[in-house]
Amino acid sequence: MFSVAIDGPAGAGKSTISRRAAKNVGFIYVDTGALYRAVGLSAMEYKIDLKDSKRLKAFLLDTKINLEFRNGEQHVLLNGSDVSDLIRTPEVSMMASKVSAVPAVREFLFDLQQSLAKLHNVVMDGRDIGTVVLPHAQLKIFLTASPEERARRRFRELIAKDPATDYNQVLAEIKQRDYQDSHRAIAPLKPAEDAVYVDTSDLNLEQSVDKVTELIKERISCG
Ligand code: C5P
Repeated sequence: MFSVAIDGPAGAGKSTISRRAAKNVGFIYVDTGALYRAVGLSAMEYKIDLKDSKRLKAFLLDTKINLEFRNGEQHVLLNGSDVSDLIRTPEVSMMASKVSAVPAVREFLFDLQQSLAKLHNVVMDGRDIGTVVLPHAQLKIFLTASPEERARRRFRELIAKDPATDYNQVLAEIKQRDYQDSHRAIAPLKPAEDAVYVDTSDLNLEQSVDKVTELIKERISCG
């Protein structure tokens, strides 16, 4: 199987670029952030205190997360319900970032992520795919852009759903998540040593997708 690991900070365009590049090369796209979001959503619903390790353990044992691929689109099932839309709110983003710092949560999702890469050719995106989940991926990409550019992109997405969205708040949240994600003790966001850097600050979506697709095709043809 061929694995492409794409890591980088929130809002660098990872999901859209990875999804489209995966389609271009006929691979399955796995959005691992959605798994953390599903755990975050469930933890919010059950009001789980993340510091209560006993309660958290019991909660994880009761939590069933699956991914389904319909027409190449990933759907996240939380205890049998499709939560693909519900996990896209700013509250769930923050909670996902918090639960992802808990070792028990990362262990819980580790096997699921690895087994997907054993079964399929994948483009998998996240924060620790090249460093922890798929250290033997044939291609690792670190996709990034400046915080301001990432905030502008996220703002454009959010304002379509909620006209009261405030750019400065979006920027502050991006910076806070960057800090949380790169300073946590376990699996912090950092490029793998052998990752190829792609900075999308000055690239539009088409150019970014083309760049990543080219990198994958090149690596496939190297065998
Ligand atoms: O990529 P996305 O914004 O959907 O990820 C939500 C949160 O899940 C991130 O802020 C990050 O803390 C966490 N995450 C992670 N490891 C991954 C994917 C996401 O810690 N592989």
